[in-house]
Amino acid sequence: MTVPDIEDTTGSAAGPQRVVIVGSGFAGFTCARKLCRILAGAGRETEVVLVTPNDYMLYTPLLPDVAGGLIDPRFVAISLADALPRVRLVVAEAESIDPDNKTITVTSQHHGPRELSWDRLVLTPGSVTRLFDIPGLAEHGRGLKTVAEALYLREQLLRQLELADHEEDPEVRRARRTVVVVGASYAGTELVAQLRALADAYAARRDFEPSEVRFVLLDMADRVMPEVGEKLSDKVLSVLRSRGIDIRLGISLKELTGDHVVLTDGTTIATYTVAWVTGVTGAPVLGTLGLPMEGGRLVVEPDLRVPGRPDVFAGGDAAAVPDLTKPGKITPPTAQHATRQGKILARNVAASLGIGAAAVYKHRDMGLVVDLGPGFAVANPVGLPLSGFPAKAVTRAYHTYAVPRGINRWAITMAYLTNAVTPRPLTLLGLVSPEEASFGSSEGIPKRT
Ligand SMILES: Cc1cc2nc3c(=O)[nH]c(=O)nc-3n(C[C@H](O)[C@H](O)[C@H](O)COP(=O)(O)OP(=O)(O)OC[C@H]3O[C@@H](n4cnc5c(N)ncnc54)[C@H](O)[C@@H]3O)c2cc1C
Repeated sequence: MTVPDIEDTTGSAAGPQRVVIVGSGFAGFTCARKLCRILAGAGRETEVVLVTPNDYMLYTPLLPDVAGGLIDPRFVAISLADALPRVRLVVAEAESIDPDNKTITVTSQHHGPRELSWDRLVLTPGSVTRLFDIPGLAEHGRGLKTVAEALYLREQLLRQLELADHEEDPEVRRARRTVVVVGASYAGTELVAQLRALADAYAARRDFEPSEVRFVLLDMADRVMPEVGEKLSDKVLSVLRSRGIDIRLGISLKELTGDHVVLTDGTTIATYTVAWVTGVTGAPVLGTLGLPMEGGRLVVEPDLRVPGRPDVFAGGDAAAVPDLTKPGKITPPTAQHATRQGKILARNVAASLGIGAAAVYKHRDMGLVVDLGPGFAVANPVGLPLSGFPAKAVTRAYHTYAVPRGINRWAITMAYLTNAVTPRPLTLLGLVSPEEASFGSSEGIPKRT
């Protein structure tokens, strides 16, 4: 990992102005890329600094495919050094932000706290998995927001299947062959579909009945993926049930231990593998600002400025951005919005530096694409409900187009083509420990207490 060169605390006083962007996800990455183009076009020397715990931008919508062993984690990690050559990377976490003194304190595994000053600050640290006060959840549940978590879930499933093959106690064997996924919105549903496909491939290779591996999908809501509308939601329910996935709605977890979970209806399920994919809340660093928040996200104006702080901007999952197409609502935490907000952030930061005119954020939702494993997907591009092969084609085409770097697009396309003619690989590399994939520490972000 690069040790950041951040010894200076000077900003505009000593040299060119400095824009600091916190977070290199969809919003931060897009903002940095567009801002560099605008500045270059205007012949400005303004420095663009990107503070990020990883030297890559993660294309999260394909994490279920990583967990299912369909694609390699490197393919969804876009190299920042290659994609953003004009940006100065500081590979570290923002620990705290002082908007009055215009400084940010950063830290990493390689150095203690260091201070960095800014003339404009763009806050795009995204979100973290929302945890509830459920006994055992933080210790025994695992999320799906990072490479470490996706890899861990894949390896945990394969390891448990392997152990089950040699287990003599039928109760323990059954528990090892049981996976519980909590959260039936698109991410959890994609995950359960991909893990089912991985388990089916394993069962075929080891010559046992795939139905011996049991998947349980839980959600407090009364339907799966309400985001795609009733018709598609019903279709998803029947396809997943036909694959033997036990879907229980209106139910969540009451308690987790190392070898079983207790559901809110009192039922106990013996399992060693629990994925918690229920929803998100703004990144913890936002709490250090002392500024107004809404639902865990930083309050911003329609032009993505923080109220009363003309030099501070925010967008993506971290910000409660007013949805001008749905008065009174805020935009949902999706990559679709984060990417477009990244462009407005760049434009408005540039405008604040005297280049061009500012704009408000307004985008009508274009719908979702959801890949549900072998031969099935659903999508509602611009409100048109699609399922089966047409949805699969739209979904794959959309993701390969939306991944923001050619070499990654190529690798993902090759992985899909390879999967069309060969079974998914089942190798167990043992790369991620349970601790490395625990909530809050899986990508070097300080652990929440
Ligand atoms: C499994 C999964 C599937 C999804 N599928 C879809 C989909 O199909 N379509 C869709 O529209 N959306 C999808 N989403 C949602 C989408 O990923 C998010 O809405 C999107 O990533 C938000 O972008 P962002 O830039 O705000 O945050 P992120 O992309 O999460 O980026 C935030 C960045 O900030 C960094 N960061 C955090 N804290 C700090 C700190 N203290 N200091 C420095 N850096 C920090 C993080 O490491 C990260 O790099 C999916 C999400 C998941 C988890």
